[in-house]
Amino acid sequence: MSKHARWDASPLETLRVGPGFRLADFDAGSTPGFDGDEDAGEELMQERGKNLADLQEQLYAEGRADGTRSVLLVLQGMDTAGKGGIVRHVMGMVDPQGVQVRSFGVPTEEERAHHYLWRIEQALPQAGRIGVFDRSHYEDVLVVRVHNLVEPEVWGERYDEINEWELRRIGQGTKVIKCALVVSKDTQLDRLEERLHRPDKFWKYNPGDLDERAHWDEYMEAYQAVFDNCSTEAAPWYAIPANNKWFARLAITEILTTEFEGMGLTWPAADFDVEAEKERIAALRATGE
Ligand code: ADP
Repeated sequence: MSKHARWDASPLETLRVGPGFRLADFDAGSTPGFDGDEDAGEELMQERGKNLADLQEQLYAEGRADGTRSVLLVLQGMDTAGKGGIVRHVMGMVDPQGVQVRSFGVPTEEERAHHYLWRIEQALPQAGRIGVFDRSHYEDVLVVRVHNLVEPEVWGERYDEINEWELRRIGQGTKVIKCALVVSKDTQLDRLEERLHRPDKFWKYNPGDLDERAHWDEYMEAYQAVFDNCSTEAAPWYAIPANNKWFARLAITEILTTEFEGMGLTWPAADFDVEAEKERIAALRATGE
């Protein structure tokens, strides 16, 4: 195993959900396109994370200089899939000033009084920022579908509506990157059990998670429908094998960094006379001011 492992195939290709994708056949324990081990993965992630941090700073600078672009990372996954770990470990590599994280739980009374996309719209990243959604509008075709929270005719129309909404956001300068963290049912049980053996993880344990787990197959159907209907050209889904947390973090770092590299970011030009400012400083030095 080489210490300086590289991707053999870009996760933007191998993990992109295309036509014919079947979640039932997906190996959540695989590490497609990467044959290094955890240490090599960690090393590569840190290296790419430096690129990501530089690019994020350029996006931030662009936003300060009247740019309108932003990036939105949508994270979905079953309980224990590791969404929080992505926020901590991947977004943790960039300047927190440039990141806006929002999590979406059971809608509040106020949120319920509005269209389901209202709270999503409120949470969109400002220009120059990376927005991270820990859960998202997709809950409105996942948990809502599994638990019949609205009639099938209602959720059935949401797939097209979501696609159109995302397309509008993209048209307004937001790059939308959607990552579904896929854990196996066995791994989920291991992770839930581990929480009961570690006092530092009790706070993460929610007895309700076991009740949700009882609906596993319906959730898989609902995720398959999301992939079938909402992995669009403009905003594809990436299915991230997440049994190995290090791989999921590495893969999302790579997807984000590559997407940023494609944005053609540059440093904004000075809106002042650089030479004149240098002369002013030289004059201050000369007079000892
Ligand atoms: P997490 O489980 O992500 O740590 P929470 O404990 O706040 O965070 O759980 C969020 C819960 O809110 C999940 O069970 C999720 O399915 C639920 N939820 C999110 N969006 C909606 C929605 N639109 N309608 C109903 N429930 C939702």
